Amino acid sequence: MQERRAPMESERIFDAAVIGAGPAGMMCALAAARRGLSVAVADAHSAPGAKLSLAGGGMGNFTNRILDERFYVGSAAAFAGGLCRDFGCERVLELLAQLGLPFEERDLGRIFGLRPAHVFASRLAALCRDAGVRFFLGGTAAGFRRGTPGDGAPEGFSFRIGGRSLRARQLVLATGSPACPQCGASGRLLRLASAWGCETVPFRPVLTPFAMPSGWALDGLSGISLNVRLALVRAGRPYSPDPVGIRPLLFTHRGLSGPAALAASCWWQGGDALSIDFLPELDLQELLDAPDSGRLLVKNLLMRRLPARLAERLCPAGIWERKCAETGRKARQALADAVHRFTACPEGVEGFSSAEAAAGGVLLSSLTPHLESRSVPGLFFCGEVVDAAGLIGGYNIHWALASGHLAGRSLRRR
Ligand SMILES: Cc1cc2nc3c(=O)[nH]c(=O)nc-3n(C[C@H](O)[C@H](O)[C@H](O)COP(=O)(O)OP(=O)(O)OC[C@H]3O[C@@H](n4cnc5c(N)ncnc54)[C@H](O)[C@@H]3O)c2cc1C
Repeated sequence: MQERRAPMESERIFDAAVIGAGPAGMMCALAAARRGLSVAVADAHSAPGAKLSLAGGGMGNFTNRILDERFYVGSAAAFAGGLCRDFGCERVLELLAQLGLPFEERDLGRIFGLRPAHVFASRLAALCRDAGVRFFLGGTAAGFRRGTPGDGAPEGFSFRIGGRSLRARQLVLATGSPACPQCGASGRLLRLASAWGCETVPFRPVLTPFAMPSGWALDGLSGISLNVRLALVRAGRPYSPDPVGIRPLLFTHRGLSGPAALAASCWWQGGDALSIDFLPELDLQELLDAPDSGRLLVKNLLMRRLPARLAERLCPAGIWERKCAETGRKARQALADAVHRFTACPEGVEGFSSAEAAAGGVLLSSLTPHLESRSVPGLFFCGEVVDAAGLIGGYNIHWALASGHLAGRSLRRR
């Protein structure tokens, strides 16, 4: 009797190949491998989780206690919010426990690791390997082909990586976005998705600072940081989609950054102005009009509540050195307006190299509720490559993990 030969690696057909060893790809691979599927994960980097390792200033803001659709933008925002509520914060905390990683809760429900984020990435990869996942690292996956019944081509999907060919019955693109190209990110495989009939929209940078025109009213205040409420003004109407409301704003050499600006960048469209309330928890008009403030100099009243350089810039001419009681009602109103409703038009948002995420990608309308392509059976997407981007606060990693888990649960067993 002839001895049965184990298939050589080049002949092996995996149940699924996942392109991208970020949080989405690894979570997908883990969920699928735990269901008994043979899974290959390919990534251009020599270590898994290149972008993940930079997250949260290196400590990783992995999830948030408050999860719903208000924290997402893009065509898949409502879907992402619902999925993240179902695959809740507790699921990510359980994962952290499995990985042996302690965490802490900070303000606004944010959960950060207490070990560097690269430890999360390497331990998640180890968990995948323990479940039988094979990693193919250090080469760009390219030359994708898919066999369709009757075309004579091999079954499923094939591609090249690092000088070898891999084949799989199903393919998952967990390839992220072009945000942060300095860590090797690119959105190139979106073109493949579109060539295979998926509807896509170009990526755009979000969670990125605003570039302000040189010489704008508050130019030269770089380094100042304070809590503000930042709204957009679109076609003359204020628009405040950020559910958090008050967040820190940071003046930079080029414009405005900090959580308030990064959050607003998710909704900003060319032509929108920014409307900033620099004293969001106080009614300045009321304070200026109060009899107790009458003997105070305007500058002293302002400098108790705002950084001096900012206060001076916001104060209309001629009243800085006056007592509040000696300042006319109109001037007091103009001051309150300048502080509560300061308006300026950004030149634009900074590009992908300053962005923590990108909106755009594969439209939800071209995916089934299991994240499978409607045009190519067996092709799945998860993570940032799908058109859902989260606000700062752990929403992007949570979406990557939740959507990766869903795709991994949805891949078919033979
Ligand atoms: C500086 C920074 C800080 C951040 N901090 C946080 C945070 O604290 N909390 C949070 O929630 N989010 C944070 N984010 C966003 C978060 O890191 C991403 O949203 C998340 O990593 C997306 O996961 P993903 O698995 O979809 O994609 P990625 O993590 O980008 O992984 C995709 C992988 O696919 C690989 N790939 C792509 N194409 C190919 C190819 N052709 N061949 C081989 N490999 C390929 C890439 O090499 C990459 O490793 C931060 C982002 C940045 C840039």
